[in-house]
Amino acid sequence: MDNNYLAELLFGDIRTTPEDMFAKYPARTLPDKAAVTRFAPSPTGFMHIGGLYAALISMCMARQSDGVFYLRLEDTDKKREIEHGADEIITSLAQYGVCFDEGAAADGEPEKGSYGPYRQSMRKEIYQTFAKDLVKRGLAYPCFCSAKELDEIRKAQEAEKADMGYYGSYAKCRNLSIEEIEANIKAGKEYVLRLRSDGNAENKITCRDLIRGNIEMPENIMDVVLLKSDGIPTYHFAHVVDDFLMGTTHVIRGDEWISSYPLHEQLFRASGLKMPKYAHIAPIMKLDGGENKKRKLSKRKDPEASVSFYSKAGFPVQSVLEYLMTIANSNYEEWRMKNPDADMSQFKFKLEKMPVSGALFDMDKLASVSRDVISKMSEE
Ligand code: GLU
Repeated sequence: MDNNYLAELLFGDIRTTPEDMFAKYPARTLPDKAAVTRFAPSPTGFMHIGGLYAALISMCMARQSDGVFYLRLEDTDKKREIEHGADEIITSLAQYGVCFDEGAAADGEPEKGSYGPYRQSMRKEIYQTFAKDLVKRGLAYPCFCSAKELDEIRKAQEAEKADMGYYGSYAKCRNLSIEEIEANIKAGKEYVLRLRSDGNAENKITCRDLIRGNIEMPENIMDVVLLKSDGIPTYHFAHVVDDFLMGTTHVIRGDEWISSYPLHEQLFRASGLKMPKYAHIAPIMKLDGGENKKRKLSKRKDPEASVSFYSKAGFPVQSVLEYLMTIANSNYEEWRMKNPDADMSQFKFKLEKMPVSGALFDMDKLASVSRDVISKMSEE
């Protein structure tokens, strides 16, 4: 297969190369220990308390190391997006003192920083530049499977009690000839771009998580979708390209992404990009029907999942922040007792002191923290 020919066939209009991108977005010049962190929400318009928690931690990491904290809008899923969803996020975070050094701005406002655009929907050419390069090197291929064909693969896997997914001999489009690909394209068939995984499930890789320590997982074997049929990247591919080009040093994200780590490791390697460090944070949980029944705070079921709940319920901003810090680092409370009047930013936050299993959100505890905060306020 002539990969250069295939790359031109798929991405004929892309004239830029990864090198052009490296030149346009040079490595940041910051002190050695400076952390570059980000908050990367989908602009759904809903600000979850867990989002504030993650953003607060990411901000602490950047601030205490004289680094950079930026906002990236992961707006590649148009179905989930709502109008002014970004404004909602920016405003509610600002209310809690979470402000960005650079990144996406409210609708109609200019972005700050030279690593943008910071809205993924505006970075199509950047992703396609890296996608084209993968195709050139034989590491990605177009897949024309219809929903029906994917369903047939699924049924076959069920019948054979095989692992689900698009991989190995089940990956029908992995070995299409260039003639077949051209014919499909000429016929106007839609396609996605998939990674040609070189993984072997027998091999293990290690995620050196800054909160949980080393986690061993099997290599990724799935030929995961990198670009959807509209040429827009999936989270996996966009994350790799963006976090590299934007100079992120620490990816601090929810632990639902741990299982994708082997894929991300493989994608960084395939793209020849240096990986950031990772910290996967445990979600905020609540007890539901019994001592041991913990579940994540749900946007649908729990009013307290929304950041807007707290101001409506009368909790001052500072109380919520103080409480989130006590969840984030168990030594925060002790520090606060010794330093009753210090600004929160004086506390030396440590990722490795974060809880590894879901911390319980405790309303009584929040009320008690809040009592202390309010007692220090002036009468006005
Ligand atoms: N948009 C992703 C999410 O909201 C971001 C995860 C990340 O921080 O990398 O889950």
